[in-house]
Amino acid sequence: MNIILLGPPGAGKGTQATRLVQSRGMVQLSTGDMLRAAVAAGSPVGLQAKAVMDAGELVSDAIVSGIIGERLDQLSGGQGAIFDGYPRTQAQAEALDRLLEARGRRLDHVIELTVDENALVARIVGRFTCAVCGEGYHDSFKRPKVDNTCDVCGSHEFKRRPDDNEETVRTRMAEYRAKTAPILPYYEQRKLVSRVDGMADIDDVGAAIDAVLNG
Ligand code: ADP
Ligand code: ADP
Ligand code: ZN
Repeated sequence: MNIILLGPPGAGKGTQATRLVQSRGMVQLSTGDMLRAAVAAGSPVGLQAKAVMDAGELVSDAIVSGIIGERLDQLSGGQGAIFDGYPRTQAQAEALDRLLEARGRRLDHVIELTVDENALVARIVGRFTCAVCGEGYHDSFKRPKVDNTCDVCGSHEFKRRPDDNEETVRTRMAEYRAKTAPILPYYEQRKLVSRVDGMADIDDVGAAIDAVLNG
């Protein structure tokens, strides 16, 4: 099974992708995570992407579709992919179709996480992750069970993204509205889209996604 999680910044794509990795053994393909790794490594892609990401704008279609293609080649045939934060433009949606077809895969579901825009800024500015294992947390909505200690790996080191500030979030939301939301009809025509209420509690969002995937 190959699925896309679609939604604006802070909708819960990463949180739900992690859940699906744990419950179904699927593989999360997050272009945001891949680009941040490239920036941290100082690779040519990272050097090109850094300023664009810091501004909250979109990295070029060729770069992101290139890294997705490389990752797909590393999967075994039986492993399902969760596309998290990709595609974000019509050109990327069309590139993904070609990448999947060339590998004998097809898209099974596009899950749109619908959220109230006013909640997104609060979600983004409260977001942090474990610096060791990457587990995601939130200052108000998902605190570690023991203060300052990762639930998963026990680490005491956490980090915040430089682009998770109110000003950049506004740009990212505008990019979503202008370039990403318009790709939904492309998938609606093919009857692939299911809408899930992303404002529900994290576990309830997960249950709603499971219902779509099992249905
Ligand atoms: P969020 O989870 O908050 O939506 P991501 O981690 O997916 O953010 O993306 C962070 C940044 O990385 C984006 O603002 C953009 O600059 C870049 N990026 C990630 N995925 C893509 C993509 N598919 N196309 C273009 N740029 C991307
Ligand atoms: P995205 O990948 O779509 O940008 P994340 O999964 O990183 O979004 O979620 C953004 C922030 O909101 C994180 O701090 C996460 O813990 C929190 N969060 C995710 N889903 C929910 C939810 N259903 N209710 C409240 N907070 C949530
Ligand atoms: Zn951890």
